[in-house]
Amino acid sequence: MKKKYIMAPGPTEVPPEVLAEAAKPVMHHRTPQFRRILTEVLDNMKYVLGTTRSVYILASSGTGAMEAAIANVVSAGDKVIVGTIGAFGDRWESMAKAYGAAVVKIAPEWGYALKVEEVKAALDANPDATALFIQLNETSTGVYNDVEAIGKLTANHKALLVVDGISGIGAQPFYMDKWGVDVTVIGSQKGLMIPPGLAYVSCSEKAWKVIEANKTPKFYFDLKRYEKSLTKEKMPDTPWTSAVSLIMQQAVALRLIKEETNEKVWERHAKLSKAVREGIKALGLELFAKENPAVVLTSIVAPQGIDTKILVKKIRDDYGISMAGGQGKMEGLIFRVGTLGYTDRFDPIMGVAAVEMALKEMGAAIEIGKGVKRVMEVLMEDYK
Ligand SMILES: *Cc1c(COP(=O)(O)O)cnc(C)c1O
Repeated sequence: MKKKYIMAPGPTEVPPEVLAEAAKPVMHHRTPQFRRILTEVLDNMKYVLGTTRSVYILASSGTGAMEAAIANVVSAGDKVIVGTIGAFGDRWESMAKAYGAAVVKIAPEWGYALKVEEVKAALDANPDATALFIQLNETSTGVYNDVEAIGKLTANHKALLVVDGISGIGAQPFYMDKWGVDVTVIGSQKGLMIPPGLAYVSCSEKAWKVIEANKTPKFYFDLKRYEKSLTKEKMPDTPWTSAVSLIMQQAVALRLIKEETNEKVWERHAKLSKAVREGIKALGLELFAKENPAVVLTSIVAPQGIDTKILVKKIRDDYGISMAGGQGKMEGLIFRVGTLGYTDRFDPIMGVAAVEMALKEMGAAIEIGKGVKRVMEVLMEDYK
């Protein structure tokens, strides 16, 4: 037997009561019973996103919500700005180009966040840009962006602010309305603590005007159809068959979040990621994030002579813990330890212990116990 754990930045572990919900009989989706659950999920998603605007539920992974955002706000020939700090930011660029947009790109070196002055300069230089695409948290590098400051810039610009909050929302502060975010996208398998398969989109009034005028061909992801289904009858509905079991699971997971409160959820992620970072530093390893280190995961530079593809495989196959390696140009060079979603105080200890043991077995020059000792000290201090 091998007990398995997930310490990856998605998919993440799912609480037992949420797993059990999926074993319940499937309901018909166009019934008052199901639509009560849908209503609850939509209300609680507004709470998590910090919005009073409609929330649309898509049966897709997070990337589907990214595509829905693009297909509804971008028209071929538009000029858009992409602020990319890693692989997921690059996905915005590829997608916008696939829809025929001309892309102005801001791309600091990986490991760094977007500089607010550089974003301002790009917006000033491109008054005709129709949208700015960014990440709240860039999962590939473990760096988050200052969305609040960037929102102040787009508030006075024609461009819509489109934020991929797929890994960051439900883990770190995010206020869609207060920060002036125009389109928010999020997936279900990260901070929202259910299996992969659902994604969410919400749009500001400024975005909605653009969406109503948008002529880009689309059907399944046409957000106007989602809005119509939400509002045409007394209780909300989805335009196509709802992913019934996932939505039932989401209802249970959101109750857990609501009960803990957004603020306490954010604080827990901050504490756990800090413990991992401190442990890794005590071990003598280098963090990959040079600023704004993520709370959903810790990105770590491989010690001399260690291929992180082999390290991650060893931790998964020998110890039963799924972590993540590097993506894109960082493949083999960094690895990422998740502290996202259903995680608590003892997870950082396990994660850093596994890293120490695997590195030692692979011949790295580290002293085992040094990182874990520091993790324990930091946790005892922060949980006093
Ligand atoms: C996971 C992730 C995605 C992609 O989501 P999928 O569910 O794999 O489609 C996009 N952006 C960020 C920041 C992510 O963390």
